[in-house]
Amino acid sequence: MLKKTGLVLLVMLVLLLILPALIVKSCGGRILPDVKVDPITISVWNHKTEELITMPLGEYLGGVVAAEMPAQFHIEALKAQAIVARTYTIAKLRASGGGGCNRHPEADICTDHTHCQAWTSKEAAAANWPFFRQRTYWRKIVRAVTETQNLVITFEGKLIDAVYHSTCGGSTENSEDVWSNKVAYLRAVQCDYCRFSPRYTETVRLTAAEVADKLGVPLAELKINVLERSSTGRIINVNTGKEIIRGLEFRGRLGLRSSKVSWLQEEEEYSFTTVGYGHAVGMCQYGADGMARQGYTALDIIGTYYTGVQVVSVQTGE
Ligand SMILES: [Zn+2]
Ligand SMILES: [Zn+2]
Repeated sequence: MLKKTGLVLLVMLVLLLILPALIVKSCGGRILPDVKVDPITISVWNHKTEELITMPLGEYLGGVVAAEMPAQFHIEALKAQAIVARTYTIAKLRASGGGGCNRHPEADICTDHTHCQAWTSKEAAAANWPFFRQRTYWRKIVRAVTETQNLVITFEGKLIDAVYHSTCGGSTENSEDVWSNKVAYLRAVQCDYCRFSPRYTETVRLTAAEVADKLGVPLAELKINVLERSSTGRIINVNTGKEIIRGLEFRGRLGLRSSKVSWLQEEEEYSFTTVGYGHAVGMCQYGADGMARQGYTALDIIGTYYTGVQVVSVQTGE
């Protein structure tokens, strides 16, 4: 009896010592000593109910994956999204030296996707799914979080700014061509994986008066002239006839899906055709799903969309 107990203890000890090492090794990463995190709970400002809620990090990440990516996506794409969401969240955590949500100083993060990161409760997510799929989808979301437990993305030992978008439309974009700062790991990469996205291309028709109004230009002065495009075809700078604005601003004012846009002008109507959906920097979500369906893993996906990064394990308290 004693011998048997001793054997069980020995097996448990070996598992305890060897398993974590194997997990880290299989991810090609290393323990990160300079990132101190103790995020057992996270404070979240729910912008819909306007209340501050706290919850364990793992539960929060499930709500982010459910809100940011369709549950129908391949499990490896969902796992990539979980790693990206964990990285983004830990970088914001006040307990680990992050800035928190600057709109709501009492919160680490808010649920407004235009400011911090989308999040949904399990119940709200399930309400959008067919009844007979609700259990399967939620299990899949939980699996994506637990199978990537503790994994984050770093560049030169620091957590990356893990930005992502829906559909790049053939190529992601250099950070400085969308915003102003050049980030070493946010480089334009070719993406042949998002062609099946329902958001790949769109045509929007607007009258000249509507265009002038949206751009804030008197109709008589409206004269759109693109000054600079990126190597992937997105507008960097454009003259509206009144002022020079960035491609991101142009896209925002006109309510277009992408700054990779061309148009035809016929008499008093503009017909804008966009390719892709979102700012196109970092991970392409539909591309992630396309890669996963071709057999690539979550780590392959991350390595494709974030140049030269490492996926490492940190103690998150999950
Ligand atoms: Zn926020
Ligand atoms: Zn793509």
